[in-house]
Amino acid sequence: MAAGLLRLIDVATDGTRVKAYNGRFETWTAETISKVIDDLVKEFETKLAETRENDGRDEGLLGENSTEMLPPELADLKLRREKLEQIQRELKAMDDARRKEGVNPAKNPAQIPKHDPDSRVLPNKEGGYAPNYTPICTAEGHGGFLVDVDVISGSLEQRELLTSLDRVEQTLGEKPENSLADGLFATGPNIEGLGQRDIEFFSNLPSPDPATNPAIRSDPTQPVPPEKWDQLPINAQSKKLDKSCFVYDSKADTFYCPQGHAMPFEVTKSETTRGEKSTWNTYRCNDCDDCPLKARCIAKTNKDGRTVSRDAHASQRDKLSAKMREDPAKKKYDQRMRIAETPFAMIKHILGLRQFLLRGMEKVKLEWLWTCTAINLDKLARGLARMRCDLEATRCLSIKC
Ligand code: SF4
Repeated sequence: MAAGLLRLIDVATDGTRVKAYNGRFETWTAETISKVIDDLVKEFETKLAETRENDGRDEGLLGENSTEMLPPELADLKLRREKLEQIQRELKAMDDARRKEGVNPAKNPAQIPKHDPDSRVLPNKEGGYAPNYTPICTAEGHGGFLVDVDVISGSLEQRELLTSLDRVEQTLGEKPENSLADGLFATGPNIEGLGQRDIEFFSNLPSPDPATNPAIRSDPTQPVPPEKWDQLPINAQSKKLDKSCFVYDSKADTFYCPQGHAMPFEVTKSETTRGEKSTWNTYRCNDCDDCPLKARCIAKTNKDGRTVSRDAHASQRDKLSAKMREDPAKKKYDQRMRIAETPFAMIKHILGLRQFLLRGMEKVKLEWLWTCTAINLDKLARGLARMRCDLEATRCLSIKC
C-alpha cells in the first residue's frame, strides 16, 4: 500500500468451489451412519466383556465413561463412536432443515463426507456434485492483490461479504470505497450492512426496466391499457405476471395490480431458510375472479387471489436496481469479473489447485492461505520489478539531460 501497488478503491468479493480430499461417494447419511454406530456399540460391548473376563475385573472398575481408564483398543472404539454420533446429530439437523425446505430426506438424504466431515457435498463449478469446500477471496482492482481470503463449509458465501470487508479494514487500516459482487451477494442484509459502513455497493440485481414496463404508470389506480398487456413482464419461473407489474404505495402501504385494484396488507410471515431468518409482508388482491388478466396473473388452482410480498429490505433493493440501470454503475460493475475471477483462474489453471491436499477446515484454511499468499507474492515481485524499471528509465532520462 505504501508503494502504491495496492489501493482499496474497488474491491470484488467472490467464492468458488475446490474439491475436498474425499471420494465422491464416500459419504455418510443418517441411515448409513446409524448402522455403523450400532456395530461399534456391539463391538465395544463384546470387547469390554472379554477384557473384564480376562482381567477378572468387576463391572464398573473399567470406567466405561472415562476414556483414560479404558484399555487403548476400547478407548479408540469409544472415541470413534463419539465422533460418529456427533456427525449423526449434524446429519439429523440437516435432514430436518431439508424437510422444512420441502426436500424429502427419505429420497434425498443429507450427506457428510466420511474422510473430511468438515466439507460438504456441493455442485462443482465444472458440473456434477462432490465433497467440496467454498474458498472466498476479496481482491482489489488496482494491483489485483488478494486483500482477504477465507474458506467456508457449505455454499452460503453471500453471508461472508460483510465479514470479509470488515477484516480488510482491520488488516489494512482502511475501508474499501466500493464493493463489487455478483447478484448472489445482493441480499437485504448485505445491502443494508454496506450502507451502514458507507461502502458503495455494485451488484447484478436484474429487474425489468421501468421505462419499458407499462405497469409503471403515473396513476397506479388506473388499469394498464389492454393494448399494452403483452408488454407486461412475465416471471421466468412462475410464467405469470412478474412482481414488477405491481406498484407499491408506501404511504398507503398497499400494492396496486395492473388492473388498478388495491391489494391491502394481509399478513406478516417469517421463515428460516438454511439458518437465515426472513420476514415479509403479504398483500392480496380480492378482485381477481372476473379479471381478464387472470390467466396471465395467477395459477388455475389459485382461488384466493394474487398475492405479492415485500420484505424489510425491498426499498433498498429497489434503489440498488435503479442505480444499476445507469451506465456509470454498469461500467463499474463490469470490472467485477476481471478483479474477482482472475485470482481463481490463476489458482486453478496456473497453480493447479482444484482439490485440497489436506483435510479438516483448519488445515484447508491454511492451505488456501498459502496458495493466496503465493499469488500475492507473485504480484508483489512483478510490481516491484516494474517500479525498478520505471526508476531506471527516469535515471537514464536525467543522465541524457
Ligand atoms: S388477476 Fe387479480 S391481481 Fe391480477 S391483474 Fe387481475 S385483478 Fe389484478
